[in-house]
Amino acid sequence: MDVRAQIVMVFNLDKCIGCHTCSISCKNIWTDRKGAEYMWWNNVETKPGVGYPKHWENQERFKGGWIADGKKLSLKGLGKGPTLASMFFQPNMPKMEDYYEPFDFDYADLAGAKPGDDQPVARAFSQISGKTIEEIEGGPNWDDDLSGSQVYAAKDLNLQEKQVIDSYDSMFMQYLPRMCNHCLNPACVASCPSRALYKRGEDGVVLVDQEVCKGWRFCTSACPYKKVYFNWQSGKAEKCIFCYPRAESGQCNACAHSCVGRIRYVGVLLYDAEGVEAAALVKDDELVEAHRALILNPNDPAVREGARKNGVSERWLDAAVKSPVYTLVKEFGLALPLHPEFRTVPMAYYIPSLSPVLSTFGDTHKLLEHGMIPALETLRVPIGYLASLLSGGNHRVVGDVLKKLIAVRVHMRAQNLKQEADPVVLREAGLDQDGANRLYRLFTIAGYNERFVIPPQQREEQDPQLRKQEGGFGLLKKTRGGR
Ligand code: SF4
Ligand code: SF4
Repeated sequence: MDVRAQIVMVFNLDKCIGCHTCSISCKNIWTDRKGAEYMWWNNVETKPGVGYPKHWENQERFKGGWIADGKKLSLKGLGKGPTLASMFFQPNMPKMEDYYEPFDFDYADLAGAKPGDDQPVARAFSQISGKTIEEIEGGPNWDDDLSGSQVYAAKDLNLQEKQVIDSYDSMFMQYLPRMCNHCLNPACVASCPSRALYKRGEDGVVLVDQEVCKGWRFCTSACPYKKVYFNWQSGKAEKCIFCYPRAESGQCNACAHSCVGRIRYVGVLLYDAEGVEAAALVKDDELVEAHRALILNPNDPAVREGARKNGVSERWLDAAVKSPVYTLVKEFGLALPLHPEFRTVPMAYYIPSLSPVLSTFGDTHKLLEHGMIPALETLRVPIGYLASLLSGGNHRVVGDVLKKLIAVRVHMRAQNLKQEADPVVLREAGLDQDGANRLYRLFTIAGYNERFVIPPQQREEQDPQLRKQEGGFGLLKKTRGGR
């Protein structure tokens, strides 16, 4: 067992209101500068939709992530041949039209408009060329609230049930906030010929060393989530840094801090680095369980001892015990990885959505009144859709999560109405009263210190043992990216 610590974020999709406050906070702090105009390290997409950059989930086109070939993993779009051939040109990288041409508006057109019969308009101009843009054709959330859903949402690869798009009365919608997953098996790190990308030993944050980056852009192609960006001004790669200067002083990320829906949780997970490669190799529908098995119990004395040997501090071990992320990902198994079939072992997790309406059929509410759980097939968001997003296609895994979420709701409803709660509802979902109450608290009134348990640290004071492990464990050691 090789115990490591990782800082992780969980998103509760039920609670995201699509306000984009998170994206704006991130942009204001990190990417509000020349060359980074089109970058949204944190973006929020409307689902169903094609996302940002458009069609990023389509690995047939972008060739990101890993493929499992028998007993070994290899980068999908890279290998010796393709790597040499694409030294100076990345054929699989998204183009500007896949992101969007960044624009601003000329507000002087408004302020300086002469009195007249027409409403003055501010004209859009390109933030790259400065030229006027007559028609804006893209943006970071171009699927905004399903506008044009017949065109955009219908192209969502996760949508197997086309009738959902054809019939507005059965249409559903949710938001999907996305950022770099600070993966355990990061394709970006493994693809970098300059070894500029690395995974920090102390907290698992994946960073680009700006001094070392030569701008080859392999990382942009290799990341299946398209979360490494190329800065056209500096000629270097850039990505989310998990707000590490904030995290080092015990503060949560700007996106999480500003989140209006309070959908985000940040905490520590301990995991077994020796098992990462094996966990990325299993069949698609076994991936979620393999990922969960990697996560170790922070109360287990053997795990704690193993962590200490690897230089994990007592402060981090205590934080791992109090981690809301451990509660949601491992203890209750509610939070799932986004597209685990890309095999990067992502370390951002999502609680699937149940809202806004529990079912496409009116009788669901009657079922709820009687404290019963509705059939999963009647839920408004098709279970196949969520399984395609969050469980490598495993319907049972998503079904188990939804059953728990519904059971908590039914239980709390009974409690609030001072009715007798039926213990069978909880039991059938694998919960008890104490568990339901704890989850309810986390989902609703949990304060800052419960949602964000981030141990402060000073890199200069880190155990040298952690530095030695930086970025190069398990599978990464065998790739060009291992440092
Ligand atoms: S999501 Fe994973 S592969 Fe992509 S940039 Fe982040 S760490 Fe790298
Ligand atoms: S700030 Fe929170 S609620 Fe608003 S879009 Fe971002 S994740 Fe969703």
